[in-house]
Parts: sequence; structure tokens; C-alpha cells
Amino acid sequence: MKNRFNPLYSSENKEGETSASCSGTYEERCPDEVGGSAGNGEAENIQSHDNSKMLRTAGIPLIVRKIKSLFNICDLPIRKKFFFYSLGATFWILVISAIGLITMFDMSSKSQQMVERIWPQEKTANIVIRKLRGANISVHNITIFTDADSVHGDFRRAKGTLADSRLYLNTLLQGGQIADHMLATDQFSEPYRVLPVRAAEKREAIGSAMAKILELDKLVDKVYIDAQGDGEKLTAFRDPRTRKVLIDTISRYDTITRDAVTMLNDYAIGVSQEWGRFSSLMRYRFNLAILLISITLFVTLALAVFYWKLMSGAFERHLNAMIGQIRALSSGELDLTKKIDQTSKDELGSLSVELNKLIDTIGNVTTFKKVIEGDESTEDIYMRLGKIFDTELGIDDCVVYEISGNKKTMEIVYPTSGGLRMHCRGEVQLDCELCRAKRTGLLVSSRDFTDVCRYFTGSDGDGHLCIPVVLGGNVGGVVQLVCRGVNNCDRTILERKITKAQQYLREAQPVLEAKRLMRTLKESSLRDGLTGFYNRRFLEECSENLVAGAQRRKSMLGLLMCDLDYFKETNDVYGHDVGDMVLKETSSVIRKSVRASDMAVRFGGEEFLLVLTETSSEGILVLAEKIRTAVEETRVNVPGGSIKKTISIGASELPGDTQNFWEAIKFADVALYKAKEAGRNKVLKFTRDMWNQDRY
Ligand code: GH3
Ligand code: MG
Ligand code: MG
Repeated sequence: MKNRFNPLYSSENKEGETSASCSGTYEERCPDEVGGSAGNGEAENIQSHDNSKMLRTAGIPLIVRKIKSLFNICDLPIRKKFFFYSLGATFWILVISAIGLITMFDMSSKSQQMVERIWPQEKTANIVIRKLRGANISVHNITIFTDADSVHGDFRRAKGTLADSRLYLNTLLQGGQIADHMLATDQFSEPYRVLPVRAAEKREAIGSAMAKILELDKLVDKVYIDAQGDGEKLTAFRDPRTRKVLIDTISRYDTITRDAVTMLNDYAIGVSQEWGRFSSLMRYRFNLAILLISITLFVTLALAVFYWKLMSGAFERHLNAMIGQIRALSSGELDLTKKIDQTSKDELGSLSVELNKLIDTIGNVTTFKKVIEGDESTEDIYMRLGKIFDTELGIDDCVVYEISGNKKTMEIVYPTSGGLRMHCRGEVQLDCELCRAKRTGLLVSSRDFTDVCRYFTGSDGDGHLCIPVVLGGNVGGVVQLVCRGVNNCDRTILERKITKAQQYLREAQPVLEAKRLMRTLKESSLRDGLTGFYNRRFLEECSENLVAGAQRRKSMLGLLMCDLDYFKETNDVYGHDVGDMVLKETSSVIRKSVRASDMAVRFGGEEFLLVLTETSSEGILVLAEKIRTAVEETRVNVPGGSIKKTISIGASELPGDTQNFWEAIKFADVALYKAKEAGRNKVLKFTRDMWNQDRY
């Protein structure tokens, strides 16, 4: 598995560090949408994670997933979570209230309707029944009473009562107001409203009753006429023929009255049955409402408890995990590979992700520090930094410059193919004082001031940020971060990246300082203080590499052993200090004569050995002659004037003269000796006849 922090574990880790892995992925495990990764998780991991998520969700229909996510509030922001919780609670309370209110309104309106509709109908039917009975009595009285007034009075009462009955029944059909006239008191009862009867069968029954009453009305007339006879009432009774007719009429009247009363009774019973049915319906509805309210109440409570548990559990889990991590962090016992299980996409989830990222960064930085401590040189550290900035921070381009030892030049140490990624004009590398960050020791940013550095060569819209790396009070390097285009140079994004980059630089600084110091110390132990040439120790250390390199390249190494002529005399005449000045001046002349790839060594007191790489037999002698002439022509200022010195040079080559490096040095020394013998101020190439011993 590839580590995302690859630069730390790259093959350039020459010492083969086996640092602890800073892996440790975190998972997003939302109850319904498990999967996903964030931050800087491993690419492979993300891939497999996504794949498995896709596999798992592929079988679930979209609608089911939608419903599930609707009920899952763990992914909502906290504000919305509470909003929906309150909304849900309010909704259920409203449902309960609605059920209660609807039931109450329904019952109330139905009762009202029933009271307004049924009760007047029943009452009217009963009044009409009473009136029919009253009329019946009056009709009988007509036949019983003998005096004309009483007969007439009963006749009027019967007629009036029947007319009222018809009127009331008609009111039942049409609707209207009834104020019953009570004969006993000759007063009207409290008027009440009657709604028209709508049911067809009821209307039919009322119609039939009205027809019967009409028949009765006609019979009353007949009874009245028959009962009076020729004016003598008693005559009618005495006359058997008339009496028979009267009795028949009365009997018919009674039958019709009974029929009408039965009809109205049936009607009244029907109405009261309707009332009964209505009462049981109301009871049923009331019970149903109670049941619905109870169920809704139960569901409300169950949901409230469920979501309360879900939300408080998620809060508690996240907060406890975060508190634990922060405590461990402050006490220094934090396991950097352990991450918070992030299970929601709300603010707490984001906080967990950020904390995980922080732990990740701390882990990375800690690991980074451990790794760079084992790095060999400052260049290695700069390389590693550059790679991290490139891969980890996602900076478009990162260039790391290292200031040279003499603090005059700066060279690109990252990327190794530096020229391809040059964002500064070339002269900056030759004179590092042109670099603003180096000169001021301050962060130079184009986001603070466009065109802040005139040596930046980026195109329009490109931004740069140059961070000086201060080592031991001096700028030892400059990290240049370049963003391409306006979008990539977004201030917020850039600032985050810069903070992270500075974090790495802060960690790297002490290590860089130590490495630089070590390098200086090492260099000073391998160099001669007076001339600045390498010393013999250095030659001993690198001789093997030198020869191996030359052999690999199949190239020649040239060796020049140089010795000042009559130097002892200079010391004797002018003193040691002047002798030292001569040595210094001579070394300077030699340095100017050779290439940077050639190696100059102070081999003895006033003897210098030059190891020339990639050269030829002729080239060796040409260079030797060049040095000899240059020394000869050089005037060394001494107190009270100037002196001139000459130099003798013995030359040898490898592998031309020998395969052995140290033997080649000896052969050059032999040639030098011969040059001295030949009169000094000469260059002599070693030849086999100069050396007749088997080994040096
Ligand atoms: P020749 O032409 O044969 O080389 O003559 P020479 O006088 O140079 O003889 P030789 O090489 O034997 O003398 C070397 C002298 O260099 C001896 C020593 O006093 C002097 N010397 C060696 N190291 C130093 C140094 O660091 N400073 C000074 N001033 N003199 C040194
Ligand atoms: Mg000497
Ligand atoms: Mg000498």
C-alpha cells in the first residue's frame, strides 16, 4: 500500500529508515450512508471505499435511499437538526390537536344538526298525534253533546286542530317555524324552527298522514252535518237510520285517526331511532379519536425518544472522542495512528475530520522530523521539503534554493531539474543578494503587493511566496511557492497551505541548522586553513571514490605535484609571515588556473597536489605549464616591496602510468624531484625511466 506521505519514505531515504507509518484512515460511518473519505486519505483507500459504497447502495432503490436519508438527521447541521426535531415534535402535537379538534367540531356540529333537525321533527310528530287525538275527542263530542253551541264549539275545535295538524306537517315538509296553539290555555307555545324533512320515505309518510288528516277533515264536516240532522240533534240519535250513518262515520273517523296516529308514531319512532343511531355513531367516533390520539401520542413519544437518543448519542460520542484526543495530545500520550471515528456529516463530524487532520499533520510533521534527522545533508532535507510541498500541500510549483557557503550565490536544490522550474531571473542565482527574501530575511508575498519582486518571472495572474529559511541568524535557503492563475492563488487556500508549509519549515529549521553546522565542521576538518585547499585527510577519504568514478567513466586522472622553489630561503629572508603570504598567493593563482571539478590539495608545507579529472596527457602538461607561468609572473607584495617566486611541477597520469592512485602521486613526486634536479621552475612528466624500483 502506498503511503500518501511518500516523500518521507522515498528511495532517497538513503539510510533506509523504517519509520512508523503515519497511515490510519478514518471512516465516515453514517448509519445509512456508510463510506466516503476525506482530507488526505489514501487514494487507493478512497477508491475501494467508494467502490464498496457503490456496491452496497446499488441494490437499494433510489426512493428507499431518499426516504432513509430523510429520516436520518445525523448528517444535518446542528441548527437544522434541532429545527427538524422541534418541527417534528410540533407536527405531532399538531396532529394530536387536529384529531381532537376535528372530533370535537364534528361531534358538536353533528349534535347541533341533530338537535336542529331531529328533535323538532319528533316534537312536531308528537304534537300532531296529540292534536289528532284531541280532534278525535271533539268529533265524538259532536255526537254526544246536544246543545248547538257545544256541538259547534267541538266542530270548530276539531276543524282547527286538524288544520293545525296539517299546517304543522306541511311545515315539516317545507321547513319553517312552529308555535303550537294550546287549546287548554288558549296560548301559543315557545316557537321552534323546523328544518324541511329531506328523506323521501319520511316525506312520503308525512304526505300520507296529511292525506289522512284531509280525509278526517271531510269526515268532521260530515259528522257535523249528520249530527245536526234537521236542526234537532237528538232527532239524529233517535232516528235509527241517521244514527247508523253517524256511527259508521265516527267509526271510519276513528279508523283513519288510528291510521294517521300510527303513521306519525312510526315516523316519530323512526326519528328517535335515527337519534339512537347518531348517538352510537358519535360514541364510535369519540372512541376512534381517543384511539388515534393515543397512537399518535405514543408515536410522538417514541420518535422523540429515538431522535433524542440518536442526537445526544452522536454528540456524546463525538465530544468524548475529541476530548479524549485533546487530552492525550496535551499530555503527550497521543497515539498518532488512532483517529476519531467520524460518523456524521454535521459540524461535529467536520470537527472530528479537522481534528483527525490536525493529528495527521502532527503525525506527519513528527515523522518528518524523525526522517530528516537521519538525512545526510541539507540538500536531502530541502529535497524532501520540496516534495512534501509539491505532493502534500498541492502547491503548483515549489522551488527550494540553498545559499552557498560563501553566501554569494544560491542554487536550486529542489527540484533537481531546477532549470525547468525557474521562476526567477537567472542572475539571482549568481548574486543571492538580488533575492528579496534572502536580503531581508522576511517573507515575500505577491498577494500582499503585486510585482513585489522584479526578479519573479511568472506570468500575469501567477503568484509567489518566498519564505526565507533562517539558519543560525542568517538566511540559509529560500522556499519559493508558486501558484498559477487567479483561482489557485485564492488567498484563503493559499494561507492554509502557507501555514502548513511554515509548520514543516519550523520543524526542519533546527535540523537544517545542525546539518549545516556539521557540514561546516566537516569541511573545516578537511580543508587547510591557510590556503583553503583540501588537506591530505580529505584526499585519503575520497581517493577511492575518485578512482572508481574515473574508472566508471573510463576517463583519465591527471596528477600535478607542485613545489615552490627555494621557499626555505623566503622564510629565512622575509620571515614566516611573508612565507605564509606567498603560500596564500600561490594557492590563489593555482585555484584560478584549474577547473571547479579539479581538486586542489595542500599536500605538504609548500607542496600542492592537483588532481585533474576528465583530462588528457596533453591537457595535464598544458595546465601544469599554465600554473608554472602564472606563478612565475605573479608578484607577491611583501613589506617593503614585492617578490617573485617560481614553482616546479611533476606530472603523472592514471591509468596511463599506473592503476594505483597513491603510486601515481608518488610518480608525480618523482617527476617533481627530477624537475628540481633539472634546475627548477620546470614542468616534467613522469616517465618510467625516472623510477626503477618495483613499488613506490
Ligand atoms: P626546493 O626548491 O628544493 O624545494 O627548496 P626549498 O627551500 O623549498 O626546500 P624545502 O621544500 O625542503 O623547504 C620547505 C620549507 O617550507 C621548509 C619550511 O620551513 C617551509 N614551510 C613549510 N610549511 C610552511 C608554512 O606553512 N609556512 C611557511 N612560512 N613556511 C613553511
Ligand atoms: Mg618542499
Ligand atoms: Mg620547495
